[in-house]
Amino acid sequence: MTTSADEELLRRAVAIAAHAVTLGDAPYGSLLAGPDGAVLAEAHNTVRRDDDISAHPELKLARWAARELAPEVAARTTMYTSCQPCGMCTGAIARSGLGRVVYALSTDQLVALNPESGAWPEVPQDGPALLAEARLPIEAYYRR
Ligand SMILES: [Zn+2]
Repeated sequence: MTTSADEELLRRAVAIAAHAVTLGDAPYGSLLAGPDGAVLAEAHNTVRRDDDISAHPELKLARWAARELAPEVAARTTMYTSCQPCGMCTGAIARSGLGRVVYALSTDQLVALNPESGAWPEVPQDGPALLAEARLPIEAYYRR
């Protein structure tokens, strides 16, 4: 459920996305709002500029939050983002400790507007394998 305060911050994320286009970057923008609603950080997609497939704004802000915010502050901080976070960013957001995400366009809505946005292939994964060998560094590390 979103509030009018959420929508105001979401409009700012959409404006960041629109500004990104004027800079020659892809149209995705995000921000973090702290427990009092103050904007803590903003980012936009710089995948092309940086030649970095991980340069999504949500991932940049998740990394920033994990590095810069105390866990109790991160838990009460909200990410506002112009599109629903992708799988890569969703994983980073979970690890960052951020407490909430509010997005404008869903992935389905984005794909309806630009089918290429949903064209990521499933990569085959084979495993598990070599349990006896692979468990050794894990056990050595976590038994410290
Ligand atoms: Zn992403």
